[in-house]
Amino acid sequence: MPCSPLRSSVGDPGRRENARGFRADHVWQASAKHCPLCGASLVRLVIEGRERSRCGACRFVVYENPSSAAAGIVLDEARRVLLVQRAIEPHKGDWALPAGYQEIDETPAQAAVREVREESGIESEVIELFDLVFVADRRRTSNLAVFLCRAIGGRLDPGDDALDARWFDLDALPQNLGFGNGPRLLERLRGR
Ligand SMILES: [Zn+2]
Repeated sequence: MPCSPLRSSVGDPGRRENARGFRADHVWQASAKHCPLCGASLVRLVIEGRERSRCGACRFVVYENPSSAAAGIVLDEARRVLLVQRAIEPHKGDWALPAGYQEIDETPAQAAVREVREESGIESEVIELFDLVFVADRRRTSNLAVFLCRAIGGRLDPGDDALDARWFDLDALPQNLGFGNGPRLLERLRGR
């Protein structure tokens, strides 16, 4: 599943703009009208110190939690980084790290490796967790696990979500790098 909202993210937990642009009342859970379990009407109530939606019939609480997503910073033997050119909005046409939402039965690292394969055709293995980024999006907030990976096979073959997939020197990245995260993460990588 492609991860689109890598927009207004922040990695530094000490900074106050962590949730810039984020409106908790805009996520789907806050505007849902019916219980996903039994279909009865939801009621907004203060539960555990905060307003939440609870089913009037079965009392199921629709908690508003961030989703989990994963991205891969994949390097080849020449220390070039793998980027994919997005085929879908937001940031259509821009270059980005391969990323997507984690499926329910996979680990974050498995999600990163799968997204890299699906979007670029490249097989990779995880070296280490590079960063954990809170991504504030109007509709769906996420915790994005960013893994540093090494390419171990495959060949460049952009997937359905990508117009193109290419290797870039860290000193010659494309101008149109989408989202706030990618440039910041790659800048950090270049400094290592
Ligand atoms: Zn219910």
